Amino acid sequence: MLRVSGLVAGYGPVSVLHGLDFELSEGEVVVILGANGAGKTTTLRALSGMIQVQGIVEFAGVPIVGKKVEEIVRLGVAHVPQGRGTIADLTVEENLRAGAFVRKDREIDADIARWYETFPRLAERRGQAAGSMSGGEQQMLAIARALMSRPRLLLLDEPSLGLAPLVTRELFERLREINREMGTTMLVVEQNANLALEIASRGYVLEAGRIATSGSSSELMSDEAVRKAYLGY
Ligand code: ATP
Repeated sequence: MLRVSGLVAGYGPVSVLHGLDFELSEGEVVVILGANGAGKTTTLRALSGMIQVQGIVEFAGVPIVGKKVEEIVRLGVAHVPQGRGTIADLTVEENLRAGAFVRKDREIDADIARWYETFPRLAERRGQAAGSMSGGEQQMLAIARALMSRPRLLLLDEPSLGLAPLVTRELFERLREINREMGTTMLVVEQNANLALEIASRGYVLEAGRIATSGSSSELMSDEAVRKAYLGY
């Protein structure tokens, strides 16, 4: 579904990604691990068209380097950025409708109802401004909003950031369900490596803008260097 080859990216004169090669198959959940500043967020920004890149990125056989963010969303890629992926002044429901901006079908209301069922807290707070919701509620809203575009590939940047452990676990359970029920492919950047490797089947470890290690979740969990650096034991 996604093929990345020789991906190079940075910010002005600062070079961050030095030639990444990786692939995702339809329906997979894959995690990107790495230390602070390794280039994880930059990788997701590169895939969603937020920054200029060089190299080859093909989504469902379509080259997407140079395409605008909106075109990439239309192709089926949704990005939940780190922190607040919501529009603060809009209500919960307005945010969900905004997430469906690329769609013209008549099932938008049905999808909103579906995500209210998955995230009941959003239903309770449908009229509340997103900016006044708690961090965990906003994270759920950001994910539901991205799902409103009916993506085939969901890019998630540290979904657990700032969330209490129980809320994080709940959120990852929901992500696992969405992947199972809808087959949504997910590429997850996550500091909570233990949890991410539980829902992912594979992972890549990024070090200073290069892929240092890759393997199945069980291979990564039993790799001593990965364990020490990212799993904390
Ligand atoms: P973290 O785990 O801390 O979020 P990360 O692996 O996601 O780290 P990136 O956010 O991709 O790392 O940043 C990679 C490098 O790019 C860092 O050195 C960072 O300072 C730099 N960088 C990120 N955004 C910008 C920007 N807008 N302008 C200049 N440099 C940037």
